[in-house]
Amino acid sequence: MPTRRNAVSLLMGCLALAGLSLPVSAQAPEKLKVVTTFSILGDLVRQVGGDRTEVATLVGPNGDAHVYSPSPADGRRLTEAKVVVTNGLKFEGWIDRLVKSSGTQAALVEAAKGLKPLKGEDEEHGHGHAHAGFDPHAWQSIANAKVYVGNIRDALIAADAAGKAAYEANADSYLKQLDALEQEVKGLVAQIPADRRRIITSHDAFRYFGDAYGIEFVSPQGVSTDAEASAKDVAKIIRQIKREAIKAVFVENVSDSRLMERVSKETGARIGQRVYSDALSDEKGPAGTYIDMMRHNIRAFSSALSS
Ligand code: ZN
Repeated sequence: MPTRRNAVSLLMGCLALAGLSLPVSAQAPEKLKVVTTFSILGDLVRQVGGDRTEVATLVGPNGDAHVYSPSPADGRRLTEAKVVVTNGLKFEGWIDRLVKSSGTQAALVEAAKGLKPLKGEDEEHGHGHAHAGFDPHAWQSIANAKVYVGNIRDALIAADAAGKAAYEANADSYLKQLDALEQEVKGLVAQIPADRRRIITSHDAFRYFGDAYGIEFVSPQGVSTDAEASAKDVAKIIRQIKREAIKAVFVENVSDSRLMERVSKETGARIGQRVYSDALSDEKGPAGTYIDMMRHNIRAFSSALSS
């Protein structure tokens, strides 16, 4: 027979399980709700935020954030968020309207704030697309990703001062991993013969990577995926591949592969491993985190260019 005392504590336990009678202080602390616009940012925020944060990502793995139609559920996520992290540099052309319509009171943070952006138009090659402004793919340079991490850390601290020490410690350890990653990338680039450091991709997403590590990237499509490559640009790339005997072309995970299939057929250049430009792969894929993505890409480029 249970004593009266035991019966009372059993009852209290049931109430606690049902979340009815516990004082707020005894419950697990509520996590800081953060919304990020795309998967690469989602990973960076998780690295810095750790288990103090609950991160939602609007454009998921393999999704194209250049062209995206937000859903009503996205608006609700924004409304509930305390912090919204965007890339900035006009990458997410749809975000301003979504922020406005959601009425969110969240702190809005541009992860790319403060870094030195590249101009949107590839001046040397002059694709002729009307992408005024800046190239948004700044995360493709690891030095820039470190700027993102600093901005994310500061934003999380501003929204959740009690987590300051945790956010700083997480950021410090992740920044060290990024330093090691950058050394790895530079080491692999150094092994590629200098006259082979030229890469064809379908949309122009790797110019920060090229600028930072000394590889030239050429694309028939501009810095967004919203415009089709012109026949003239495609013809020009085909001539260049033949003239320079370029062996491989690459398709990004967010791009339609048909254009590069055609280029491959006309030039004999083979299509290299799929590379990840604007989105991570899903968790089981080769690019489930930012670090895995950067490592996968440089290995894909280096194995195609070195062989
Ligand atoms: Zn892109």
